[in-house]
Amino acid sequence: MPALDTFAAEKLARLDHKHLRRRLVETARADGIWVMRGGRRLLSFSCNDYLNLSQHPAVKEAAIAAIRKHGVGAGASRLVTGNHPLFAELETRLAALKGTDAACVFGSGYLANIGIIPTFASKSDLILVDELAHSCIWAGASLSGATVATFRHNDIEDAHTILKAQRAAHRHAMIATDGVFSMDGDLAPLPALAKLGAEYDAWLLSDDAHGIGVVGGGRGSTFAHGEAADVPLQMGTLSKAVGGYGGYLCASQAVIDLVKTRAASFVYSTGLPPASVAGAIASLDFIAANPDYTVRPLTHARAFTRALNLPEAQSPIVPIVIGAADTALKVSQELEEKGFLVVAIRPPTVPKDTARLRVAFTANHMSDDVQRLADAIGPHVGHA
Ligand SMILES: *Cc1c(COP(=O)(O)O)cnc(C)c1O
Repeated sequence: MPALDTFAAEKLARLDHKHLRRRLVETARADGIWVMRGGRRLLSFSCNDYLNLSQHPAVKEAAIAAIRKHGVGAGASRLVTGNHPLFAELETRLAALKGTDAACVFGSGYLANIGIIPTFASKSDLILVDELAHSCIWAGASLSGATVATFRHNDIEDAHTILKAQRAAHRHAMIATDGVFSMDGDLAPLPALAKLGAEYDAWLLSDDAHGIGVVGGGRGSTFAHGEAADVPLQMGTLSKAVGGYGGYLCASQAVIDLVKTRAASFVYSTGLPPASVAGAIASLDFIAANPDYTVRPLTHARAFTRALNLPEAQSPIVPIVIGAADTALKVSQELEEKGFLVVAIRPPTVPKDTARLRVAFTANHMSDDVQRLADAIGPHVGHA
């Protein structure tokens, strides 16, 4: 076998042995909540399509109309000829939703963070990252070349200690965190982080991938703490509650202007397809017009945590920590046999020995579905 193939095969065998190999399973999503896998229809609690907008007729129609008018692809980077007329409309909507001067749309949330972070931090700078932050924050921080310091999850005191010790030795500083943690469902203490950031001149970036559309009246995690937190860099994705694809940053005009001229993943990557942009505009219109609808996923999550005596859900995501990766896979398989799709999440997505079921609730689940899932998961709660 060629050395390259031997390397890959051996690495896969080691991952298999640790129950950490991942496999793609063909999954057809026909509506907001039901999926087809291996010829079986399963009720999904694993989609991030929290408002089921990926399947909303008005959103689909907007995307189809955009293809008819503008074609399928953007054709180039937005700085060349890829800046079709729908971008300005979407960026205006996003900035209004987040209460900022301006916004910048990227190809995806991952591309947004690996572009934004290196635009504002480099070799002489310091970036503090919450230990449970998403992979793309770590990737962006690492690409920047700045010194990266990890603070304990949601621990303001720990972040404070790091800033006190290290801030003075660096030119600029940044604090980067998820606004809603993707695998835990809890909120970051954004008002306290913003205050700390202001005190130490450390720029706060929050990743609102799981907040937009579902917390803070649909405006996201910045708005989920009573008064709006002062977050100068609000990034997020259009691929979860917004139901489509794409990433964004909402910030001041100067920050957005710099990103549009310097962020590599913006400058050197093709603009988002017209259909994705038009679909996102229709989704944001729906979110703005239906604040009552945006609370439904969280309402279901809270009914679920009440039924199982778990700490009250803060977002539509509820983790059921199992511990060992093979046990988490087994429980997920058992649930699948009962007709529920609840995918097991394993390291390195979550820390070692905290493999879990990650339950995600969406607007179109029924209260009865939530209760049935609680009954099925109940026996596995508290085994970590
Ligand atoms: C999903 C996710 C992203 C990536 O967004 P994509 O648009 O899917 O690339 C970024 N951050 C967090 C916290 C996420 O959960």
